[in-house]
Amino acid sequence: MRAMRLAAAHQRLSLDEHLPTPLPGPHQVLLRVAACGVCRTDLHVVDGELPSPKLPLVPGHEIVGYVEALGAGVSGLKPGDRIGVPWLGFTCGQCAYCRSGRENLCDNARFTGYTIDGGYADHALADARYCFPLAPGLSDVAAAPLLCAGLIGYRTLRLAGPAERLGIYGFGAAAHIVAQIARHRGQRVFAFTRDGDRESQEFALSLGAEWAGGSSEKPPQELDAALIFAPVGALVPAALAATAKGGTIVCGGIHMSDIPRFPYSLLWEERIIRSVANLTRQDGEEFLALAPTIPVRTVTQAYPLAQANEALADLREGRLTGAAVLVP
Ligand SMILES: [Zn+2]
Ligand SMILES: [Zn+2]
Repeated sequence: MRAMRLAAAHQRLSLDEHLPTPLPGPHQVLLRVAACGVCRTDLHVVDGELPSPKLPLVPGHEIVGYVEALGAGVSGLKPGDRIGVPWLGFTCGQCAYCRSGRENLCDNARFTGYTIDGGYADHALADARYCFPLAPGLSDVAAAPLLCAGLIGYRTLRLAGPAERLGIYGFGAAAHIVAQIARHRGQRVFAFTRDGDRESQEFALSLGAEWAGGSSEKPPQELDAALIFAPVGALVPAALAATAKGGTIVCGGIHMSDIPRFPYSLLWEERIIRSVANLTRQDGEEFLALAPTIPVRTVTQAYPLAQANEALADLREGRLTGAAVLVP
């Protein structure tokens, strides 16, 4: 099989054409990868900003694949089925978090494209118990961003509560999906991009945002909640300053630059700051059932597998509209 692999952090990925195609274990499926989304988390892994990745590593945790072979313990799937593989790749089922319905916080969790090889490849193994069936309406490329940008975006939105005026900081892959869900629920969306990024602001307006501006701007009205998808700690006090009493700020990314000091008065009046970590399988089932009813559409930019470094560079530099997707 072919894969783009990371040998060490702070290195470019390199194409390996002759890796042995692995055999599925008892609970695993071998997938032919049809598309794999490129997520900001992949950049954090490549840049060495997350501790202890598997090395060498095949990144990628938004995999749309077709079942080629199944382990003896897999039920409910057959060769040819299209499924999605998300970030959450394994949980122990035993720890206090698993036993209290919070498997996203599992002490022994393993993650696709981080501590398990992922989908920057033409084949991938996945534990079938953590995969999701995908509704037919979307192409393989269009469905890929649902598997992290959509899914973790959905959890981020859910944890913000029923805010009428919703701010979204960082208008990339996750935001462009979340905005569609928020609008569908009747929430009002205010989009914040890098200052001067008119293209992203136009994109946000086209998806139903009623206002779009730079992240240093004040929105025309106070926000009831804000979601932060950009990995920029300075956005936390900026969002607090834009948020009404009792408002919630939810940080949706796995990594962020340090949050600068800010006066307690920004947090006062029962404002809340929280993060979102990973996903539960229930998040995935809820979101993937909801998405086709809206229906969520994705805007994607496809790259050949061998151009994974170019896709990551475009994501880093903010040159993408929507989501980058690799096609083996
Ligand atoms: Zn656990
Ligand atoms: Zn992701």
